[in-house]
Amino acid sequence: MTFLHHTIRSFFLIEFVKAMWLTLKYFFRPKATINYPYEKGPLSPRFRGEHALRRYPNGEERCIACKLCEAICPALAITIEAEPRDDGSRRTTRYDIDMTKCIYCGYCQEACPVDAIVEGPNFEFATENREELIYNKDKLLANGERWEREIAANIAADAPYR
Ligand code: SF4
Ligand code: SF4
Repeated sequence: MTFLHHTIRSFFLIEFVKAMWLTLKYFFRPKATINYPYEKGPLSPRFRGEHALRRYPNGEERCIACKLCEAICPALAITIEAEPRDDGSRRTTRYDIDMTKCIYCGYCQEACPVDAIVEGPNFEFATENREELIYNKDKLLANGERWEREIAANIAADAPYR
């Protein structure tokens, strides 16, 4: 019986026909995969990617050197030094993040009273060595300038839920 069964299935190419049918069924359906990196999937406004330090529209740094982000960081990844300026305002002279320590918890962003430090939408910042992942203030401010439009849109989209 088993021999006869196998012979009939082989003779009529049953497995082949079933496979072709399955292929045809999925051929006209929307693709489940994307052609990364040329195509990218949607990201939540709350996505926690690469860090950035933001400025106000007039170019002034948002960060007021309160050090709340440094205090709350569970990975001790943030190092801040600050001094008063001539005009009396307090600003950082050093703002480093060791991205090799960061666990992308988002606490720094949550703690910041002026939305200065944020985790932006960029997830493509792989490097060839660890040194490149020690971010200083210039690098973080440059990230802020590069991603400000997307970051501001994400903060606005998330605002009603806060
Ligand atoms: S995301 Fe978390 S671990 Fe990373 S710097 Fe911010 S507080 Fe620290
Ligand atoms: S980034 Fe925000 S929380 Fe951190 S020191 Fe600056 S103002 Fe304070």
